[in-house]
Amino acid sequence: MMMKLADLIEENVEEIAALDAVNGGKLFTLCKAIDIPGAARTLRYYAGAADKIHGTVLKMSKGLQGYTLREPIGVVGSIIPWNFPTTMFFMKAAPALAAGCTLVVKPAEQTPLSALYYAHLAKLAGIPDGVLNVVNGFGETAGAAISAHMDIDKVTFTGSTEVGRKIMAAAAASNLKPVSLELGGKSPLLIFDDADIDQAADIAFRGMFYNKGEICVASSRVYVQEGIYEKLVKKLVEKAKATVVGDPFDPQVNQGPQTDKKQFEKILSYIEHGKREGATLLTGGKHVGQKGYYIEPTIFTDVNEDMIITKEEIFGPVMSLMKFKTMEEAIKRANNTTYGLASGIITKNLNVANTVSRSIRAGVVWINCYTAFDVDCPYGGYKMSGFGRDFGLDALNQYLQIKSVVTPIHDSPW
Ligand code: ADP
Repeated sequence: MMMKLADLIEENVEEIAALDAVNGGKLFTLCKAIDIPGAARTLRYYAGAADKIHGTVLKMSKGLQGYTLREPIGVVGSIIPWNFPTTMFFMKAAPALAAGCTLVVKPAEQTPLSALYYAHLAKLAGIPDGVLNVVNGFGETAGAAISAHMDIDKVTFTGSTEVGRKIMAAAAASNLKPVSLELGGKSPLLIFDDADIDQAADIAFRGMFYNKGEICVASSRVYVQEGIYEKLVKKLVEKAKATVVGDPFDPQVNQGPQTDKKQFEKILSYIEHGKREGATLLTGGKHVGQKGYYIEPTIFTDVNEDMIITKEEIFGPVMSLMKFKTMEEAIKRANNTTYGLASGIITKNLNVANTVSRSIRAGVVWINCYTAFDVDCPYGGYKMSGFGRDFGLDALNQYLQIKSVVTPIHDSPW
């Protein structure tokens, strides 16, 4: 059924891409090329794992033998955000279904449409009623009802750190359901002097401005070694100025509108804050046009880790650019954050890449690339970016219980 659902998603790719573009201001072409095919791949990956969930045989003492069973955890509540409505839906639903769980998915109130479409396709794929359920609604009502529900056995959440705390508290106060939380980030990208400047500029720019900066792993803190700093700044500013901001259905456009008014206003207020804090605005900073929630790709320099714009997740197209001298300094500054979701390094020096990747406290380190996601690669946070892993076979464990079955080998005093 999961395989069939993947086929149906591919057959309807244009329609679904249009729903996510209309709802979230996401680029139609990227939804069509990346997000929607990625959902089909995720379903097939976990469908392939569904009949390979094994327990272990236990080597026990005292005349006992035993084995473990891995059983579905039960009913899963999935509370997801608006920036990647399709990716998030299947990142949670596919491993949960493969593990044998049923789900109640609550999409973000800003982006409810594709989730409803997926519920419809699930029916066509033959998934029985009651297995994959979609409940739309607001966070404080529908989301809170899921986290506090006595009959929900596990909650998987992606969203803000603030809401993650509330969900964990509600889970603790109700039935102590386990939660997994993928929260915010303020991810560092370290670019060393030996980097190819064009390639580094491409990676850094895409890492930050992909999906208009509404991406939890955004490379929002870019540290550049002093030898190439000036040249790299120039390239990044050129790229920002060349970005076409506009209608997400226009194939010439690189950046669509922010998802809603609240987000749009929040980003602009962070930009004003950055200026007041004394950061230098290199480019951008303004609303594009008179209508819609369009914001120029924005780059600040002369920033440090004490400034709000470098500390807090802005979740919009705003980059903080900083200069460093030594690797040790870069590692220290990269780790100077309460978050630990993602990170990146650009260098040709293997020793530097190895040392930095083992020193950064983050769930992923991308070397000479960024946002290089794959369904086989576990993904999640250190520190206040949360815990638990989505994607990869590790994600299956979030939806499984371990049961030990024990019996004496012979008649025994047990
Ligand atoms: P963002 O800041 O990215 O909008 P949020 O953390 O506010 O992310 O929202 C992510 C998801 O959490 C959404 O589906 C939202 O409805 C839900 N949510 C918001 N508040 C609560 C809450 N108190 N309890 C449960 N879910 C919530």
